[in-house]
Amino acid sequence: MVNFMGSIEKRNRTVAVNEFPTALYINGRWIESSEGKKFPVFNPATEAVVAEVSDADIVDAQCAVDAAARALPAWAGKSPRQRSEILYKSFEIVSRQKEHLARLMTLENGKALKDSNAEVTYAAEFLRWYAEECVRISGEVMQAPASGAQILVQYRPAGVAVLVTPWNFPAAMGTRKIAPALAAGCSVVVKPASETPLTMLALAECFAEAGVPPGVVNIVPSSKSASVVSHMLSDSRVRVVSFTGSTEVGRNLLRESAHNVINPAMELGGNAPFIVLEDADIDAAVEGAVVAKMRNSGETCTAVNRIYVHDKRHDVFAERLTSRMSALKVGNGLDNGVDVGPLVNAGTRNKVAGFVEDAVKRGARVLTGGQMPTGIGFFYPPTVIVGVPEDAKCVREEIFGPVAAIQRFADDEEVIFKANNTEYGLVAYIYSENLKRALGLANKLEFGMVGINRGLVSDPAAPFGGMKSSGIGREGGREGLFEFLEPQYISTNW
Ligand code: NAP
Ligand code: MG
Repeated sequence: MVNFMGSIEKRNRTVAVNEFPTALYINGRWIESSEGKKFPVFNPATEAVVAEVSDADIVDAQCAVDAAARALPAWAGKSPRQRSEILYKSFEIVSRQKEHLARLMTLENGKALKDSNAEVTYAAEFLRWYAEECVRISGEVMQAPASGAQILVQYRPAGVAVLVTPWNFPAAMGTRKIAPALAAGCSVVVKPASETPLTMLALAECFAEAGVPPGVVNIVPSSKSASVVSHMLSDSRVRVVSFTGSTEVGRNLLRESAHNVINPAMELGGNAPFIVLEDADIDAAVEGAVVAKMRNSGETCTAVNRIYVHDKRHDVFAERLTSRMSALKVGNGLDNGVDVGPLVNAGTRNKVAGFVEDAVKRGARVLTGGQMPTGIGFFYPPTVIVGVPEDAKCVREEIFGPVAAIQRFADDEEVIFKANNTEYGLVAYIYSENLKRALGLANKLEFGMVGINRGLVSDPAAPFGGMKSSGIGREGGREGLFEFLEPQYISTNW
């Protein structure tokens, strides 16, 4: 039986923040975990410990939900303009802190500094976008066709939201949830990935400085994520669970949210096809493939996983992509000129190496890379493989690493079938100089997002999300707000 006597007021273990915070952030205070435990965060380039972070357990998680529930009425009761201004201030502070946040992100995640800088900009833009959306949450009035009664629809804050984020975008996957939640008038408890909790904790300082009231944003890093999240979902005051991560964990959380019928928003795995039609601009397609494959060393849910090139253009595409990929500089993400940092941990790197071995065993040919380096750091070289058969593991599963796997196709029908032949449906890419044809093809693809002649679709102003096993709901755009709002319909006569 758990003892919940650990209410936040009774805790006197408030800690000082030095270079960057490493404690739990609950009710506007930095505190150690109830049992005083910590877990290490590693730098994937050096394998050294960057910091020891307070390890939240279910007592701490309960404190965080309590704090969020208490802060909710006052935050929901603020005027949209007041919430908007705090969000806008957060945007300015995060933007000002870009260099610091980007370095911290590279330290804990490994990604090249230019990727970290781009992520901080992207992360900050969600704060700006939802500062703007915050004041435009409108309802509806209409007349009931049969009775003539007035139908009023208003959107109310859904309540306390639990936000669970992955390690591949330690800042942006947080702000993509926090910003719309706060705009909607919700309070939140964030459970960042245990590989990369430092960036999120550093963001808490930005929110505090911007005037986010205590308890509105709480952050509970934990090495016992399953029990901590599950405990929070058992609290009936939690009304939203927004998760970004693997499909497997997403399925679990859907099951767990069933009990209290919690609104789920799920951004799950992907298996993106990248289709190069015979009329494509090959140089543009190669550039797009490098962006879509190599951002974050390939550790993105939108990363190109299967490259399908028309028979007539296959060889020239493969040759040019190989030359671009082999020219990328691999190294410690903090070093100047590095394009590709290490993968996040040994397990991820081994998985990537296993995908290449499996494909080669089944007949694929390596054009560049493919050798696991020895030495310190979880590095893996940019790799191109051709002749990859449909049953290769890297075609069926998410690679999540710097491996470009190329297949051929003969006609549109074949490529549409292959592209859709997956349980995932997050994003697809099409390269063609014929926009009408590309749009027609997009219409036949079962993916929540399609990039046409672009290798990057993520945008705070657009609804990001997947079909099929890639998720439920959308983040960003106007749609992102609705995950944190409950419509209330009032029927009346006047
Ligand atoms: P993950 O293992 O599912 O973890 C994601 C988050 O869930 C982490 O905070 C993790 O905490 C937590 N978690 C793990 N097991 C849990 C459980 N049983 N109950 C509750 N929470 C749990 O995913 P990942 O390996 O970090 O991230 C990679 C995956 O995320 C890929 O599949 C990728 O496609 C997907 N992703 C999707 C999007 C999108 O928008 N669709 C964006 C980015 C990434 P710990 O760190 O402590 O394990
Ligand atoms: Mg790390």
